[in-house]
Amino acid sequence: MALHIVLIGPPGSGKGTQAVRLARRYRLPHISTGDILRQAVRDDTPLGREVAATIAGGGLVSDELIANLVSDRLARADTAPGFLLDGFPRTLTQAHLLDRLRSDLLVVHIAASNEEIVKRLSSRRICQSCSLTQSGSQADDCPYCGGLLIRREDDEPETVRKRLATYAALAEPLLALYSARPGYIAVNGLQSPDQVTADLFAALDARR
Ligand code: AMP
Repeated sequence: MALHIVLIGPPGSGKGTQAVRLARRYRLPHISTGDILRQAVRDDTPLGREVAATIAGGGLVSDELIANLVSDRLARADTAPGFLLDGFPRTLTQAHLLDRLRSDLLVVHIAASNEEIVKRLSSRRICQSCSLTQSGSQADDCPYCGGLLIRREDDEPETVRKRLATYAALAEPLLALYSARPGYIAVNGLQSPDQVTADLFAALDARR
């Protein structure tokens, strides 16, 4: 059976790290809408130019734009065994769109408090080449691929506060929708990353 995994959690909850591990274990394409948009900004495509200011300011790009982006991506052949969505859906409109595209969603909610998130994001950097996130490291190079580690523009404290406020306002109705469904899985994101991974693998293995 295809695995249609949706990861939900505040920015900085460890969602990106867990997504990489889940995608590897279940051999699924990791579809991060944030990564796709950042890549478009770096490549200076028409899409990138359209969203650059919104992303840098911590706001959300329009549902319409994201809907087109995700339905194009899910139409690709590599999603036949399933997919792992990271950063989508973020609004009820996006959730309803996803329901029209795929059924049998497994919605994984990684929960973490605002306090912990601000602490984590102030020390994290992202690899410019492989997009891997590093926290607490003083090195300039990515330990995995050797790429340059940079601070994301939207990890600045002021922008983080805005992103958390945006998340809190939108996540509540989304979680209300999904938590009532049988495919909902909640894990405690304040545990060590390895423990979060272990909990995720156990919960997903049990539902395959
Ligand atoms: P992320 O890496 O998921 O935190 O996404 C970075 C930025 O990309 C967000 O702050 C938004 O500006 C934009 N973005 C990513 N995914 C979405 C989405 N599903 N809906 C709207 N905007 C998004």
